[in-house]
Amino acid sequence: MARPLTAEIDLDALRHNYRLACECSPESRCVAVLKADAYGHGAVACARALEGLAPAFAVACIEEAVTLREAGIATPIVLLEGIFSADELHRVDELGLWMAVHSDWQLDALLAHRPARPIPVWLKVDSGMHRLGFPPERAEAAWRRLQAAPDHACDLQLMSHFATADLVEGAYFEAQMARLTALAERLDASLCLANSPATLARPSAHGAWNRPGVMLYGSDPLEAANAASRRLAPVMTLRSAIIAVRELPAGEPVGYGGRWVTPRPSRIGVVAAGYGDGYDRHAVDGTPVLVEGRRTRIAGKVSMDMLTVDLTDLPEADIGSEVVLWGRAATGEVLSVDEVAHHCDTISYTLLTGVLPRVPRRYHGQPR
Ligand SMILES: *Cc1c(COP(=O)(O)O)cnc(C)c1O
Repeated sequence: MARPLTAEIDLDALRHNYRLACECSPESRCVAVLKADAYGHGAVACARALEGLAPAFAVACIEEAVTLREAGIATPIVLLEGIFSADELHRVDELGLWMAVHSDWQLDALLAHRPARPIPVWLKVDSGMHRLGFPPERAEAAWRRLQAAPDHACDLQLMSHFATADLVEGAYFEAQMARLTALAERLDASLCLANSPATLARPSAHGAWNRPGVMLYGSDPLEAANAASRRLAPVMTLRSAIIAVRELPAGEPVGYGGRWVTPRPSRIGVVAAGYGDGYDRHAVDGTPVLVEGRRTRIAGKVSMDMLTVDLTDLPEADIGSEVVLWGRAATGEVLSVDEVAHHCDTISYTLLTGVLPRVPRRYHGQPR
């Protein structure tokens, strides 16, 4: 028997979540964001599962696009940050990629390069995130330069990113929207704005294209869940098993530093999963886990290869019992990665992208 820890990836759930994104924004096309190895789920498998359903994929860099092309993925792929140096334009051309243009140097490089075919370009505007993009007052000139170069760039979209689309409070989102609407009207541009939270909860941001990412993997990015986000299905289940059980009297410390001390006579289960697998060491005592589909909690610090859970109220749990760190148990019970992230003082994105290569991925559902 191998070590029981696996990351089970439900490709049917991935497609369900992608369809939900489309349902939320029926007038838009949704590019499926597959960066960071599809948020830790395996970009090639996820791309295969979404081919034919998603009209385009998005990645952060050429290397991620190459991985998909080498696996035979023919769907258009957009580089969300464009090129990192001018020499990458040859690869953009060869691989038939689309690209964001967020800076003058990228624009100059594109206009100096003679592509075999014009490259679809998403011009990135900084509407208030203050990370990448042209300030609105300079975006018009950049747009006009691209428009004047139809041999270099085609299918222009105005792209921007929201800083606060997930929050209930909407004033800053509205401020960003106002800048974008004004600019889009001036340029008569089609828009690509919405990330997952805006796809789920900000219909005013739905443009020709949306860019849902984390919602595809079943994580709810909204500060306050809504009817759509409650329908998201978890894609990854991080599953392991109890490998040892300890009976301890009250007052005994468990794990490194003795952070957790048995408050009563306790049964402790040792689980094969630790920070060496990407389970967050910041998980506090009380972080939920499912044992045979029933909720219990972490007791003691997470170690590299193991963690400990309180089985005192689960007398039927024993060596070999299923443990779900996040995802769906065999009983159907779900523990959301968002809830676990909350107990680790982080977000689902870091937990999902942080599952390390030591953890075998197992895929379920039809590849397409
Ligand atoms: C990662 C990313 C997205 C997707 O964001 P989610 O919050 O995961 O939906 C969208 N747009 C850009 C530019 C990104 O970098």
